[in-house]
Amino acid sequence: MESKLKVGIVGAGIQGISNALFLQKKGFTVTIFDRDEPGSPAASYGNAGHFSPTGPLALKWNYVPKMIPWAIQFIRNCTTKKMMHTAKNMHQILNLALPAYDELLDEIDLEGLVEKKGILYIWNDKNLKSRELEIKVRNELGVDQQVVTPKEIHDLEPNVKPIYHGGVYYQYGRHARNPKKILIKLFELFLKKGGKFLKINVNDIKFDKENPIIKTENQSFIFDKIVIACGSFSKRLTDNLDEKIPLDTERGYHVHFKDYDHLLSRPVIFQNRGFGITPMEQGLRVVGTVEFGGLNNPLSKSRVKNLIDNAKYMLGDLPEHEDEWLGFRPTLPDYLPVIGPSKKHKNVFYCFGHHHLGWTLGPISGKIISGMIAEENTNLDLKPYSSLRFS
Ligand SMILES: Cc1cc2nc3c(=O)[nH]c(=O)nc-3n(C[C@H](O)[C@H](O)[C@H](O)COP(=O)(O)OP(=O)(O)OC[C@H]3O[C@@H](n4cnc5c(N)ncnc54)[C@H](O)[C@@H]3O)c2cc1C
Repeated sequence: MESKLKVGIVGAGIQGISNALFLQKKGFTVTIFDRDEPGSPAASYGNAGHFSPTGPLALKWNYVPKMIPWAIQFIRNCTTKKMMHTAKNMHQILNLALPAYDELLDEIDLEGLVEKKGILYIWNDKNLKSRELEIKVRNELGVDQQVVTPKEIHDLEPNVKPIYHGGVYYQYGRHARNPKKILIKLFELFLKKGGKFLKINVNDIKFDKENPIIKTENQSFIFDKIVIACGSFSKRLTDNLDEKIPLDTERGYHVHFKDYDHLLSRPVIFQNRGFGITPMEQGLRVVGTVEFGGLNNPLSKSRVKNLIDNAKYMLGDLPEHEDEWLGFRPTLPDYLPVIGPSKKHKNVFYCFGHHHLGWTLGPISGKIISGMIAEENTNLDLKPYSSLRFS
């Protein structure tokens, strides 16, 4: 399709850039706005790098403080029926996530930045109730998983200390050796295809009749369509559009142990301690914790220390760590993203709220939005991702 429609995208994380590339494939003229350079320390830079077509399926209600309104909505979603709704609708897009990635990755020189060695989950609690539930739900959804014995875990990852009682291996999982480099390569592809980038903060969205206008401090840019893809920061703009979308952030951390990536072949997630380690170009990236502390509070030193202690519990002696990083997972109370048009403005589209799986779900979400903007038919059920569910 040849189209000259102009689309503006706010946010140059994996969601914004994926949207841009799929829109370009359909012939749209695309401009991305971001207040930072692409690949700067947003969530799409510092994540654990899993391309995880499996995902955490059960809502982890025990993480959540009970007092805030977000948590009240979240707890309402913790019934078995609602959890299955989340699991089924996450599975619908996760199942398409890797093929959608490949459509974009096939166009760049990956230089060994993606490893296809699976992802390993381990645990050391003997109470397997929630593990059994997750395994059962994944089986029902047809997810490829292999329950592994301690011996099999040792064979896969001999440097992990024998602290585990069991685990699950997802052989189709992949991992990024450097999410930042991949993001920048995709961004350069966008520029090469004629995309325009403006490094500028977006303050507001206004309208000229039905055409959206992106407002910065001193300038206005008019488009035919716009996509809001600002991760955890999207709520500032959707609130201005008078839509009450209950987006919050689950804060997560990482540290690196430089030159120690040879200790692991693939990401290993220690499930009941809530952290994981991925072998990357920067070394071992230890990632984890879920903290409800908003977008403005500083990094917690005790959480960083906890990550370091956990890494040593899993792997033994490690050198001094580097790079303490805090990032923001954009999360909605029902653990489903918002992918689709705004309630009130048909030319404004939303693409945010992908929580722990936003790195995996960038290209498939961008592909879905590009299809919506091109007014194509789909056989996917997209209603569960609509912002209307919060009206
Ligand atoms: C510790 C941690 C580990 C994770 N591990 C994984 C994993 O292994 N696998 C996985 O699939 N997912 C993982 N995730 C989740 C994933 O990283 C995020 O869901 C995803 O990166 C979100 O992408 P995004 O593009 O929506 O947002 P972001 O990456 O946050 O990008 C948003 C962009 O919008 C820009 N922006 C915001 N407001 C404005 C404004 N007003 N004007 C202009 N620009 C603006 C920001 O500068 C930023 O560049 C992890 C997240 C964390 C925190």
